[in-house]
Amino acid sequence: MAAQTDGIHLSTTKKKKRLLIHEGFSYTKDKDELQDTTYWRCERRGECKGRCKTVRDDVFKTVPHCHPPDATRVTVEKAKEELRTRAATTIEPTIAVLRAATNDMSADCLSSLPKASSLKKSIQRERLAAGNQ
Ligand SMILES: [Zn+2]
Repeated sequence: MAAQTDGIHLSTTKKKKRLLIHEGFSYTKDKDELQDTTYWRCERRGECKGRCKTVRDDVFKTVPHCHPPDATRVTVEKAKEELRTRAATTIEPTIAVLRAATNDMSADCLSSLPKASSLKKSIQRERLAAGNQ
C-alpha cells in the first residue's frame, strides 16, 4: 500500500466519527449534512483552521491549512481502517489481519502505528462488536 495524498477517502475514527482524508489532510465532520453538502474541519483543531466541504464526491477547500499534508498519517489511517474492516468481515486469524493491513508499509509508517499488541486488541474488539467470532 503506497502513501497516497490525493483523492478522497472516507474513513471512521475509533469512536466511529467519520473521517475524511483528502490530499494528505485528515478532517472530521464539522456540521451535519445539508442536502448533499458536508462540512469538514481539519483534525488538528486548535492549531489549524483548515476546512473543506464535500458536495457528493467533490471536495472544495474553503480554508487553507497552516501545516503541510501528512502522507504518513494518511497511510496509517487507511491501514487502521483496513484492519477494522477485515476484523469485522473476515474470519482470518488476528495475525493475518494485522499482516494484510500493514503489508506494504514503509518503516516510517510502521513506526507511527500503535504497538502490535494494541492493534491485536483492537482487532479482537472490532470482532466482538461486529459479532464476528
Ligand atoms: Zn490542517
